[in-house]
Amino acid sequence: MLAPQAPASNATRRYQLFIDGKWVDAESGKTFASINPATGETLAEVAEADAPDIDKAVQAARRAFEGKWSKVSARDRGRLLYKLAQLVEARAKELAELETLDNGKPIRESLYVDLPEVIEHFEYFAGMATKIEGETIPVPGRMFNYTLREPLGVCGAIIPWNYPLVMAAWKLAPALSAGNTVVLKPAEQTPITALELGKLVQEAGFPEGVVNIVPGFGERAGAALASHPGVDKIAFTGSTEVGKKIARAAAENLTKVSLELGGKAPNIIFADADLDQAVNGALMGIFFNQGQVCTAGSRIFLDERIKDEFLTRFRERAEQIRIGDPLDKQTQMGPQVSEEQLAKVRHYVNVAREEGATLLTGGEPPALDGPLARGYFFRPTIFTDVKNEMRVAQEEIFGPVAAVIAFKDEDELIKQANQTIYGLSAGVWTRDVTRAHRLAREIRAGVIWINTYNIFNAASPFGGYKQSGYGREMGKHAIELYTQVKSVWVDLSGRPIGWYNR
Ligand code: ADP
Repeated sequence: MLAPQAPASNATRRYQLFIDGKWVDAESGKTFASINPATGETLAEVAEADAPDIDKAVQAARRAFEGKWSKVSARDRGRLLYKLAQLVEARAKELAELETLDNGKPIRESLYVDLPEVIEHFEYFAGMATKIEGETIPVPGRMFNYTLREPLGVCGAIIPWNYPLVMAAWKLAPALSAGNTVVLKPAEQTPITALELGKLVQEAGFPEGVVNIVPGFGERAGAALASHPGVDKIAFTGSTEVGKKIARAAAENLTKVSLELGGKAPNIIFADADLDQAVNGALMGIFFNQGQVCTAGSRIFLDERIKDEFLTRFRERAEQIRIGDPLDKQTQMGPQVSEEQLAKVRHYVNVAREEGATLLTGGEPPALDGPLARGYFFRPTIFTDVKNEMRVAQEEIFGPVAAVIAFKDEDELIKQANQTIYGLSAGVWTRDVTRAHRLAREIRAGVIWINTYNIFNAASPFGGYKQSGYGREMGKHAIELYTQVKSVWVDLSGRPIGWYNR
């Protein structure tokens, strides 16, 4: 087996593209640097896929789909996925460290949240492979009608940088479980762990071409994949802006598309909530993963009656968040993923100030020494006196910036919570069970968390309302995204069709 990673001297690693079961350079010979956002240093040199490489990968995926992979039984697909889960588990610590180096997320998150989720995903969809079934339809007359649920073919997956390995698993696991082949394009900021996963795909014994991994830039490699006529389905997770581009590109070939896009989630805290829980939930909502979460509870709707008490505690706790070396197990917040993201966060802090919001805490980078001084860190930031119409409450920042909006009346609150182009998720904090379920119905979003936040499971569907996307990943719903239904009719009468007899 060829290793994609040459033994590197100090920290710089080298990676090639994974196409047709082989590790290869890009046709252009080009590479790009993946940066460690905690220090600004180059972590790896990675082969840069462009249109010709994407074409090669799509062709390999097509050959595999029509060839060897189509002969593999559901049970064996499940066994391969289970094997992959085991291999990931065996290397979890190393993969978590690489994820932290490439993305900047604290090791306590990559090791205890991301990696377990990846493993769970492969395991869940390993078991699902043998449960993908058609149905028998009770049609009239002497006819037998049944359906076959078949794979789509070659699936292009374009994923973001905030959960590099988790996103790879969300796409690969259901696609492979259902019998598709995949061309996966990781984000240019964080390509490393997906490529490491490629090694494990090889080791698990998937036939060549079933999984292809082609890192490169969005406008080139990503666009080439989205517009490739040989791709049957595109699964995308990323910004709403890019999601629209993908949908347009895919429309040209009527490629099927599923989109998991941005959010500006309301995290709603009523006066009767358990305040300790709610403060923790607000912190979890907006500061987890440096705020770089599509479900981030970035609009905190706060009941007027508890405003002062809540904000005192929220601020205090936000200021206690330990920012620093993401590889240190004590660290609770690492850097933003890139210089560009840091600039975006800074920009929105200025926008909020200009709009008249009040900065309660944060609003600037922390003071850090040594190599971390060159990292893309930013302090947990809270704005109060925010109005829902302000840009800081309407536009996705994708950083650790909370916009606190006070409310008095439930009806008005619901109206405002729904006044957004997004509809991915929402949080509701209350001890009133009636209100909790009423809100769950009234809020137009794909996931509602009651007295909790940012909880996921491979078995539970996830996806957005409105401009947060379409399609539901995870659970059995994910299988709908990666299969198509064929209806088969059988005449049981044994007589000719009588229509033209007279
Ligand atoms: P962010 O703005 O948070 O970086 P993006 O939505 O831009 O997130 O990126 C998500 C993924 O989409 C990445 O893999 C990126 O390379 C890819 N991408 C960006 N632009 C395009 C595009 N025009 N066509 C296809 N993929 C793209």
